[in-house]
Amino acid sequence: MNQNLLAPHVDALTCLLNTINQLNWDSSVNMPASASEARGRQIGFLSGMAQDVLVSDALSRALSVMESSSDPYAIQTRETLENAIAHHRKIPKALLREQSELVGVAQPAWIAARQKADFGLFLPHLEKIVDVKRRMADLIGYDAHPYEALAHEYEPGIKVSFLNDFFERLKVRQQPLIRKVHAAERPRTDFLRRTFPAAKQREFIARLVKEIGYDFERGRLDLSTHPFEISMTRDDVRITTRFNENFINSGLFGGLHEAGHAIYEQNVSPTLSGTVHVLDLIGLYAVAGTSYGVHESQSRLWENQVGRTLGFWNNHYAQLQQAFPDALGDIDVQQFHRAINASQPSLIRVEADELTYDMHVMLRVEIEMGLLDGSIQVKDLPALWAQKMSEYLGVTPPNDSVGPLQDIHWCKGLFGSFPTYTLGNAMAAQFMHTAKASDPAIAQGLQKANYAPLKNWLTTHVHQYGRIYTPSQLMERSTGSVLRVDYYLDYLEEKYTSLYHL
Ligand code: ZN
Repeated sequence: MNQNLLAPHVDALTCLLNTINQLNWDSSVNMPASASEARGRQIGFLSGMAQDVLVSDALSRALSVMESSSDPYAIQTRETLENAIAHHRKIPKALLREQSELVGVAQPAWIAARQKADFGLFLPHLEKIVDVKRRMADLIGYDAHPYEALAHEYEPGIKVSFLNDFFERLKVRQQPLIRKVHAAERPRTDFLRRTFPAAKQREFIARLVKEIGYDFERGRLDLSTHPFEISMTRDDVRITTRFNENFINSGLFGGLHEAGHAIYEQNVSPTLSGTVHVLDLIGLYAVAGTSYGVHESQSRLWENQVGRTLGFWNNHYAQLQQAFPDALGDIDVQQFHRAINASQPSLIRVEADELTYDMHVMLRVEIEMGLLDGSIQVKDLPALWAQKMSEYLGVTPPNDSVGPLQDIHWCKGLFGSFPTYTLGNAMAAQFMHTAKASDPAIAQGLQKANYAPLKNWLTTHVHQYGRIYTPSQLMERSTGSVLRVDYYLDYLEEKYTSLYHL
């Protein structure tokens, strides 16, 4: 296959999508809010250009005159481009315009509704957005359920039958565990809310993320309202965090989380740089990780499977105490370890702990599926939300702001991304189980603050491949099995049984 014909088009896509990420990073880290309208136009213009490159006759011609090849990477390049072209050709520009106009009005309506805790103000907008998403799903196409068409953008190839089975199995074991934990005596957590000066937090977290393997030579750490990781290329992978001076967890675990995302991007094989295998051509986003779920597995692995263990803090707690002698001087490592893993029922997804987070996700996935297939009506959301929250976590929201109005996703027209958080948790457990079983040096390393054996395993089996493999291909190759929720449930049961002496 003559790759040279494709090169100028792939170069154009690479530069456009990398530049969009650069502009987005700047919007969240440096830009004065007064520039947001102009920045929106700039990003919209560049995204339009990327889409034009993809659906151009010139690119299709270049693909059509290429000889067939037995080189698997060349075949994948062709397939990736053909799939992306087909996807973008299915959705007419008029429908995209309709969506962005709807979203433009829906977002301020959502903000107002949230402020007044009145779902009714957002209801007509959400009804229109659901209608547009349904039409989009029909145009994109799916096997069994319109949700598949939308979730595909975040988790390529995901099926509703798989998700239903996955969450059903999760629910059967996780719900009784949650009930047992919440009935047990709650550990002390008050000291996590003492005073932790931001400058000291920054110093500590920068050292910690470097120790687990984040490369500052090819990255940087900044502040932003909502922490995130973003990569231009594998040589420029940035993370942000925020420091709450009255709650140590945000900066600490937010930092480890974003570093986990970044370590993935920094360790994709350099041979993939500049190819379509480090671009999401459906979502038009420069990202080398193969899906949202696999990406989330890497952040959760470092945040939870490593960063919330006693072994980890046996190695780092003395340094933390030195940084914050007033706040933690009278607290020992066991107390700290129990506190950072404490669980309680919560109303807000983004504040939920490791044990309850998946219930928030499951509720949203069920609602999104129902809205798309018509079995749930938008007007019934507040009542349905209250009913499911009470069933899953034993709490009911006192108003709509802390109920169905809490997430920004729907007013932005984003449907189908929620499952990836829980898929990521489960994948993290399966990767960790496999890694530890394959080499005793990994578990031994973790006890001695030597993170290289684990990071190397992840690079060899996950990171280096970029988007070459789909999430399910990657799971099978690296762990020998498709994603199974049992590894995650075993991990949760073992962890919380011991922590809460159940
Ligand atoms: Zn994340």
